[in-house]
Amino acid sequence: MKQKSYRFRFYPNKTQKKLLTQYFGAKRFVWNTCLAWRSNFYKENKESVTGVDYSRELTWLKKFEPYSWLKEIPSSIATQCLRDQDKAFKKFFKEKETGYPKFKSRHRQQSIRFQMDQRVVMNNYRAGSLLKIPGLGKVKITWSRNPIGIPKMVTVSLDTAGRYFVSMGIEEAIQTKPPVEKTAGIDLGTLTSMTLSDGYEVPNPRHLLKRKYQLKKLQQRLARQQKDSNRRTKTRVRIGKLHARIADCRREYCHQVTTKIINENQVIVLEDLNVKGMTASSKGNKEKPGKMVKQKSGLNRSILDVSFGEIARQLEYKADWYGRTLIKVDRYYPSSKLCSTPGCDYKADKMPLKIREWTCPQCQAVHDRDINAAINIKNEGLRSIAPAGMKGLQLRDSASEGVYSMTVSPRNYDQPNSCQERL
Ligand SMILES: [Zn+2]
Repeated sequence: MKQKSYRFRFYPNKTQKKLLTQYFGAKRFVWNTCLAWRSNFYKENKESVTGVDYSRELTWLKKFEPYSWLKEIPSSIATQCLRDQDKAFKKFFKEKETGYPKFKSRHRQQSIRFQMDQRVVMNNYRAGSLLKIPGLGKVKITWSRNPIGIPKMVTVSLDTAGRYFVSMGIEEAIQTKPPVEKTAGIDLGTLTSMTLSDGYEVPNPRHLLKRKYQLKKLQQRLARQQKDSNRRTKTRVRIGKLHARIADCRREYCHQVTTKIINENQVIVLEDLNVKGMTASSKGNKEKPGKMVKQKSGLNRSILDVSFGEIARQLEYKADWYGRTLIKVDRYYPSSKLCSTPGCDYKADKMPLKIREWTCPQCQAVHDRDINAAINIKNEGLRSIAPAGMKGLQLRDSASEGVYSMTVSPRNYDQPNSCQERL
């Protein structure tokens, strides 16, 4: 049984919309006040407090007139929100995966989570084109896919284009895919977004780049427009819609790419993306990547920095679903500096980004920078699993055969299939 996630668009009626606006507001209030309280409490007393502590504060707060509206909000929303914040802090402190939790803005995507009461939900959480959400009643929904199980929890969200979605994780049995022979090393490169060890270059998402450009133009316009003017509001709405569309494109693009890779390869090797490094050095500037892409700057990073993590995440869970092996190699592994010719151990001292193609002084092989890096990543990954026994060895064999017998991408080597022939 694997956890599979679904996302459906739904269409609340007027009353439901009003309710949702209140709920979103309440959640923001709880999240933000709790976050501020926590941070201040720590600054002043050097002691950390949890969501449970704040829950008590909240009960006390409700007694006062300006906050009495909180009584009308289902208490589960606050509880869930505080739980989520606890989790966010835990992630920040323990796993060092993410940055410090941020305040929620009403201009961004809104979301709340509902626990589904299993007793109520069991038989009738969906009926025809309806979904029953606690605290909201039945909502009209498009079942674009057909989930088999019953969700324990649903997340209701409103994106910046004004669309409502409900997402749910459902435990389902997933059929693994029939095994294939190939192994892929993936280089998260620069000029193209990704290169595979077989020479396939994942094309740049051009439509995404175009929209990014439009977004930049609109943001410049917004900056020029007068505060509180109608035109400014209009621009802001357009920006919101564009943001949502960019998110759609990116999601779809990532899925296309990862599904293709998973379908065609049995073993997939990629660099371990250090998310911690990214968030730590990209503080205060969301668009700039940090350490992880450090030696890979100068690319269209506004798109790539977001997608890298997502692509890795999708590859990981899809590999798990479909019975593929995913290997991560150390992100400090010098994949672009090493020569990938079997038997050659040349390592360059430096490999500046502008060098797209280079000749190994030891074996004279001509390398395409990204393909060479991807092959190194693949071999390193296979080396790391080789001691596991026969399976590893077999993989390694078929892999080293496969290295240069591939058809190389349009950006070709000058010499016909270089390395092995020269050896
Ligand atoms: Zn060499």
